[in-house]
Amino acid sequence: MSELGWLGMTCPHGRLHLNTDSFYLELLAYGTDRPAEPGEPAELYATSIGDQLSPHIRYRTGDGYVLLDGDCPCGHRFPRAVHHGRCRDYLTAGGAVVLTPRTLDELAGPAAWLAFYKLTHHDTGPLLLRYIPVPGADHAGPGRRLAAAIRERTGREVTATAVGHIESERSGKLFGCVREAR
Ligand SMILES: [Zn+2]
Repeated sequence: MSELGWLGMTCPHGRLHLNTDSFYLELLAYGTDRPAEPGEPAELYATSIGDQLSPHIRYRTGDGYVLLDGDCPCGHRFPRAVHHGRCRDYLTAGGAVVLTPRTLDELAGPAAWLAFYKLTHHDTGPLLLRYIPVPGADHAGPGRRLAAAIRERTGREVTATAVGHIESERSGKLFGCVREAR
């Protein structure tokens, strides 16, 4: 999960539990230094406990999470959170987070017409949605509907294009929602 070690694990109920035994973990409301409420976009900070060799103090992971309320049916006492992707890729409007890589995945849903997509956003101008349709699938209508859903959620114009290839990041990883500087 990170170079620090085991920050969390997924339980049989599919929930991510944060490892609060080995680390002092803080979910700070995105862009602030106050603890996040359940349901709020947050960034994970980690401080190692009892690690004398390479202690980390308030290490900023860059990873976005939303804390879940209540107890998990699995019975584990560690707090639960949902991973939302890299905070640097969050799309904000007026200081509020309006789109995360995960909420974008949720908007796209289990789309049978869609093989892969990438939404690139800059501070200004339209959001650029490129997608690779499943071969033979009717994608024009669903592509327009996905663009409209993103527009409605973010308040930004969306340019949607079907393409044959989408590049990966320099790291070789594929991310579906990326913020780029102009
Ligand atoms: Zn659980």
